[in-house]
Amino acid sequence: MSEILTLALSKGRIFEETMPMLAKAGITVADDPEKSRKLILGTSNPKLRVIIVRASDVPTYIQYGAADFGVAGYDVLAEHGMDGLYAPIDLGIAQCRMSVAVRDDFDYLSAVRQGARLKVVTKYVQQAREHFANKGMHVDLIKLYGSMELGPLVGLADAIVDLVSTGNTLKANRLKEVEVIKEISSRLVINQAAYKRRRAELQPFLDAFAQTA
Ligand code: AMP
Repeated sequence: MSEILTLALSKGRIFEETMPMLAKAGITVADDPEKSRKLILGTSNPKLRVIIVRASDVPTYIQYGAADFGVAGYDVLAEHGMDGLYAPIDLGIAQCRMSVAVRDDFDYLSAVRQGARLKVVTKYVQQAREHFANKGMHVDLIKLYGSMELGPLVGLADAIVDLVSTGNTLKANRLKEVEVIKEISSRLVINQAAYKRRRAELQPFLDAFAQTA
C-alpha cells in the first residue's frame, strides 16, 4: 500500500485559488483553514492530505520531503532557491508584480541619476540585490518581515521592494510605484526525489493542476 501524498499550501489567496483546481479533479478539502486551527487537513481523496504552512516556508517543507508538492509564489521560490525542487507548471494564480516604490514626494529618477545611495526595505533581499546590482545602483538593503510600506513613511528607508497587486496599499500610504522588477504568479512545486520515486502516484494530481493552469 502506498503512503499518503502531502500537498503544502499557504492560507489566503493561494489556498483559495488552489481549491477550484482540486475541485476539478474531484477533490475537496475537509476543513477551511480560515476557520479551523488545524494544520493538517484531510481531503475527499484518502491518498492526499494538505498541510497549511506560511507562504515563505512552502519550499522548505517540499525541499526536505515533508511535503511532496505544493503551491508557492515565484517571489518566494526565487528567494528560497530551487535546490531539491522542481517547478514545472505556472498555475497563473495569485498574480501580482514585484516593484520598487517610494514616497509620492520623492524624486526617484533624480536620485538614481545622481547616483544617490538609497536605503531600501524589503522582505525580498536576494531579488532586490540582484535588481539594483543589474542597474549598477548601490543600495543599502534592510530586511523587514512585514509592512514594508511603513519604512519610507517613518524615515527607515527611501524605497521599498514589495508585491503590488491593485496598488491600493501603496496609494493608502502615499507611496508610488516607480519600477516593476518582475511579474509574479504561483507555481506548482514538487520535491525532486518524490517526482522520481512516486511519479505514478503524483501524476493524476499533476495532471489535474496542468489541466486547470
Ligand atoms: P495591493 O494593495 O492590492 O496592491 O496589494 C499589496 C499588498 O498585498 C502588499 O502588502 C503585498 O505584500 C500584498 N500582496 C499583493 N499580492 C500578493 C501576492 N500575490 N502574494 C502575497 N502578497 C501579496
